[in-house]
Amino acid sequence: MPFHVMLIPTLGCPANCSYCWSSEEKSPIMKIETIKEVVEWLKVFRGDSVTFTFHGGEPLLAGAEFYREALPLLAEGLSTRHIAFAIQTNLWKMTHEIAEIFAEYNVPIGSSLDGPKELNDSQRGKGYFDKTMKGYEIARAHGLEVRFITTFTSHSVKSREEIFNFYLENGLTLKFHPCLPSLKGDNPNQWTLEPEEYGELLIYLLDKYLENLGRIEVMNIDHLCKGVFTGKGAVCTYVDCMGDTFAVGPEGSIYPCYRFVGMPEYVMGNVYDRPTMADLAQSEAWKQMFQYKEYVDTACSKCAHIKYCRGGCPYNALVPSDGKIEGVDPHCPAYKMIFDEINDRVNEEMFGSSGMMENMMFQPHSTKPSRSGIMSIMLKKL
Ligand code: SF4
Ligand code: SF4
Repeated sequence: MPFHVMLIPTLGCPANCSYCWSSEEKSPIMKIETIKEVVEWLKVFRGDSVTFTFHGGEPLLAGAEFYREALPLLAEGLSTRHIAFAIQTNLWKMTHEIAEIFAEYNVPIGSSLDGPKELNDSQRGKGYFDKTMKGYEIARAHGLEVRFITTFTSHSVKSREEIFNFYLENGLTLKFHPCLPSLKGDNPNQWTLEPEEYGELLIYLLDKYLENLGRIEVMNIDHLCKGVFTGKGAVCTYVDCMGDTFAVGPEGSIYPCYRFVGMPEYVMGNVYDRPTMADLAQSEAWKQMFQYKEYVDTACSKCAHIKYCRGGCPYNALVPSDGKIEGVDPHCPAYKMIFDEINDRVNEEMFGSSGMMENMMFQPHSTKPSRSGIMSIMLKKL
């Protein structure tokens, strides 16, 4: 079973996006000794394939020297298994030197862009678009794969068509996420998307994707369709992430996910102590994550989508109740809306509006024309 370790070299960030809650001004930078400890910890902790994602704060603040040492330490120190890397960065601190190192280790980049310049800068900060694009050009010049993530806020959702067209016209893959409230404070609350708004957005983007199939890739829709088709979530939000995802903070503390980094009550252990899985399982944070899994088994037991939704993200679920398990992910209504929509369309395409199978096996051309070809999204991802 492959697993995921997020490495958080710092929670510091040179930007100050209006809706962000994951950066801290005075956060330290991870020392290379901590990476050495990560390697030693993982050698005994678990022998499976592992994907390392550098996340933040802004992980490029760690600088070229850090990556020049960290990447070979991880790749060679754990060479008996498959290792993959990725990074999530705003790209402001990208240099030719760093891009060269990333190219050597095949590090795909996820970055943030909330749409066209004016819109991006209005909800993140003045000049942010240009700074990210400058880093993007450097990364591309070294052949690095860059995908942007758009944060849809209560403000930008009104410009959803403009944002979709921006991605379409610039030949970019669209990945998005809704602006979320946080356990760390109420800063982003005015920007957060209501679940119904998010559900409508998902259905809108499904329609736009189908209208433009072959001209753009909308990753979230691919993942949602794949989940319905295979009966298993394709991204962490829709699987039981607990026990298979870990985050290591700047000083070696181990958390269940990057979203908890910097919150002492969610520390499960420290890489310097080389904890085993059984050690981590003693921590309150571990117990709480697994209590959430059990909670979902009961609370969502009657939901038709439980297999490929799994109650959504545990972090999201803990936010409204200030860290207590009192409900599932508040985006549940949005998930239901899009999963119902996908299922209805698949049924319509496969069985026709009468609900009866129409000789699919023998006369494929006899099926009724579908509202849209959602099966083609499912099949392209098989
Ligand atoms: S807590 Fe949420 S964001 Fe983190 S790994 Fe789990 S599902 Fe993903
Ligand atoms: S859609 Fe809602 S009820 Fe259904 S599994 Fe997901 S969170 Fe639970």
